[in-house]
Amino acid sequence: MGHIRSAETVASALRDSDSGLSDADNAAKHGVAVKTIRRWRREYQRRGRTRGQSHLMARCPRCDGAALDPAAYAELLGWYLGDGHISLGRRGVYALHIFNDRRYVELNAHLLDLMRAVKPGSRPHTREVPGAIVTTVGWKHWPCLFPQHGPGRKHERRLVLESWQQDLVHDEPAAFLRGLFHSDGCRVNNWATRPVAGEVKRYDYPRWQFVNCSEDILGFCTDALDAVGVPWRRSNHKTVSVSRREAVALLDDLIGLKC
Ligand SMILES: [Zn+2]
Repeated sequence: MGHIRSAETVASALRDSDSGLSDADNAAKHGVAVKTIRRWRREYQRRGRTRGQSHLMARCPRCDGAALDPAAYAELLGWYLGDGHISLGRRGVYALHIFNDRRYVELNAHLLDLMRAVKPGSRPHTREVPGAIVTTVGWKHWPCLFPQHGPGRKHERRLVLESWQQDLVHDEPAAFLRGLFHSDGCRVNNWATRPVAGEVKRYDYPRWQFVNCSEDILGFCTDALDAVGVPWRRSNHKTVSVSRREAVALLDDLIGLKC
């Protein structure tokens, strides 16, 4: 005899299953066995219940000419390239997952809004992994919107933005940079001391760094920085740094601090 679960738990698990969460993650989130999730799904199907899956059928900006929020898309593209991936779930539904440090509560809430803006009517969900929050939303059309999806890791394959993506990034470079820097970037505070008129003074030097193993993604980042007039340099093979005082202030204004 198994445990009796509340109707809310069952409904919540079925909802997450519909929006693309894998059975294993769903089981972990709801504290049940994987086979329990499968059983709930089977029972629902047997009773012929519908679970309001219309959101999975949301029209696609690429296939169906649905509207696409350009700023939200450009930013979500930045997040995806920085620390996101797409997986294929059941019934041909892909899931877009964005990982972000759990310390950044506002950014994690903002990610839910971004996903809802790019896929209107969607129901993104979050789960915790050690140190991070994963925000996920299911859709059959994620590969249409992020054609950079493919086998293997992003830095091990050649990534090219399609011309329609280049146009959107060209129109919304700050939004794109916000996604990139808030996913794979950090704002570090360096300091130094200098003697001034016989007194040792401390100076702070904040700077932004974008760290990524893909030369292509680093190139997308520096192109966008050029577009908004923020000077940058490559501090090593996988790092783009923005360290001049005016440049850091300009980037702060454009993308906001991490919070
Ligand atoms: Zn599509």
